[in-house]
Amino acid sequence: MKKVIKKWPLFIVSLMLSVTLINCSTVPITGRKQLNLVSDSEMMAMSFSQYSQFLKENKLSTNKQQTEMVKRCGKRIADAVVKYMNDNGHGSHLEGFDWEFNLVDDNTPNAWCMPGGKVVFYTGILPYTQDEAGLAVVMGHEIAHAVAKHGNERMSHQMGVQMGGAALSVALDEKPEETKAMYMAAFGLGSQVGVLLPYSRTHEYEADKLGLIFMAMAGYNPEEAVEFWKRMAASGGQKPPEFLSTHPADENRIKNLESLMVEAKQYYKK
Ligand SMILES: [Zn+2]
Repeated sequence: MKKVIKKWPLFIVSLMLSVTLINCSTVPITGRKQLNLVSDSEMMAMSFSQYSQFLKENKLSTNKQQTEMVKRCGKRIADAVVKYMNDNGHGSHLEGFDWEFNLVDDNTPNAWCMPGGKVVFYTGILPYTQDEAGLAVVMGHEIAHAVAKHGNERMSHQMGVQMGGAALSVALDEKPEETKAMYMAAFGLGSQVGVLLPYSRTHEYEADKLGLIFMAMAGYNPEEAVEFWKRMAASGGQKPPEFLSTHPADENRIKNLESLMVEAKQYYKK
């Protein structure tokens, strides 16, 4: 009973706040409609602070050549996406983005992109990406998650489920640790903070499709995506949430990518 009473003030305050922050938007290219309860500016403010915190707590790679490749590939894809969005009247969709690409020394096969274009690659994924075109497969996919604002949707959902629909700023005030943990979990970093969020199949397929198109726009051959996922499939073993072989299953993922190849190639400029 006590618990119920305690929840009310937060619920009422947050309901009023969320109504003013509800944001309906459309994912570029796929046209999927999404409803975001958390504002872009709140998502990015948190992303920028969590990103610099992560870089402080993790060791950057000292391999100059590999680090430069990650930065070059990221910039090349981000530039192509920004140009495409500007040319098609969607420039405002990327407002507030501040792209950054870093390689950390960690043998987990992982990579992620937080809201606003904050990317981290782990050295552990490089044996699978092999070369710059392979790297572009993962880079395109991660950039796609940020451009399609999947983190915002995931966080909106979690705020609804766990925080009674509270606004992010309210939740941060009331439950700072839980809110930060939830935020990190929304980007596949849950295992490091003790929370795991299953990745949505819709988001993964959407990021695969957009990623394929984005890498093609930047002049990387989209066919490399199929080769990369075949290598991931063959690796077996434990993978981090972002690259779980079961979600979507590798063979379905590969089939899906093959079916998108004709469309992706329309964007491919050699
Ligand atoms: Zn993904």
